[in-house]
Amino acid sequence: MGFNYQNIRKDFPILDQQVNLRPWTYLDNAATSQRPIQVIEKIREFSVLTNANIHRGTHTHAIRTTEAYENAREIVKDFLHAKEREEVIFTHGTTESINLVAWSFCEKFLSEGDEIIVTEMEHHANIVPWQMACERHHATLKVIPFSDNGELKSELLTALISDRTRIIAVTHVSNTLGTVNPVKEIIRVAHSHNVPVLIDGAQSVPHISIDVQDLDCDFFVFSGHKIYGPTGIGVLYGKRAWLEAMPPFLGGGEMIERVTFEKTTYNELPYKFEAGTPHYVGAIGLGTAIQYILNLGLDHIASYEHHLLTEASEKMKALGNLQIFGETPSKTGVISFQLDQIHPFDLGTLLDQLGIAVRTGRLCADPVMDHYHVTAMTRASFAFYNTSEEIDRFIEALKRIRSMF
Ligand code: PMP
Repeated sequence: MGFNYQNIRKDFPILDQQVNLRPWTYLDNAATSQRPIQVIEKIREFSVLTNANIHRGTHTHAIRTTEAYENAREIVKDFLHAKEREEVIFTHGTTESINLVAWSFCEKFLSEGDEIIVTEMEHHANIVPWQMACERHHATLKVIPFSDNGELKSELLTALISDRTRIIAVTHVSNTLGTVNPVKEIIRVAHSHNVPVLIDGAQSVPHISIDVQDLDCDFFVFSGHKIYGPTGIGVLYGKRAWLEAMPPFLGGGEMIERVTFEKTTYNELPYKFEAGTPHYVGAIGLGTAIQYILNLGLDHIASYEHHLLTEASEKMKALGNLQIFGETPSKTGVISFQLDQIHPFDLGTLLDQLGIAVRTGRLCADPVMDHYHVTAMTRASFAFYNTSEEIDRFIEALKRIRSMF
């Protein structure tokens, strides 16, 4: 498969344990991924040996920490193929990154009567901040729908864009349907109308190689914890021109150039958007996580995960009376489904009894639930450390639970 996943499992000691007296089978990777020992060790080593606040001190450890933090920014810049390090802002996660843009961009560029476009398959994090901005500025939220197989009706975009459209926010990969959206084409269409685009990359960065310059997106956001890094750290990439034009989001230390009671002037990019002490340990851990997956090779990861997705989908369909939500040809390792009439909460609880962790509920995507007229779904999601054996265990567990009902 291009890499030896038996060796890879050794990097993830958390996976080697029992839950409810069974081998733990972790199929909830779209919610959060596990961290390799290299990331855990980096954080430990850093906390034991080097910790000091960044950008503030002239002492040795302050300088070392600052260098490590700025090195992590370089790693993210290269990973996203961004043009300049100043275009990479560290935040606490995807949610904060989107809120930052929804506040700062809209403060400057959104007026009464304007419009913002999102899609029907967005995570709540890419709906609510825009809705709040629309409420603040008396603007309107418009929605690109998707068809029942989970494909975005992106051909409707041209009809939805008007001369009042100020920004389009779209997920690269849906966290419920697994659909990989044609974001490059969406960006091309949007730009032909001079409309900028924010891409929610929370579910794409672990699986797809990203080149923000090739995509030509205006903003790209993601979270560390979904890409084998720590929680509480995330990234906002923004084109310099937009970031320069936007007012700061949070005020405080570090984001200022000079403060007087009469007037404060702001720091240059990227610090203008990094108020207060950042999660520098998280950023350093994220840098290590990115280096880890680059070492494995994103292409190898993608083809192995595709193999897992195909195998799991085929075996699940062979069970019969199992509905999969989202069946587009271009899809990552996410399978949301309904088995017979078994309620997802019952299914999730019983799977856990058998040592298998999946996600159940509304998956932070109420509009997707509404689309299919369901109140909840069960979601299995895969990472490169999952195995065929685990898929078999999952299928056997579904059979066993079905026989109980
Ligand atoms: N967007 C998508 C597509 C997601 O899957 C998630 C996390 N489930 C988020 C945004 C929010 O990410 P976070 O909770 O890390 O801020």
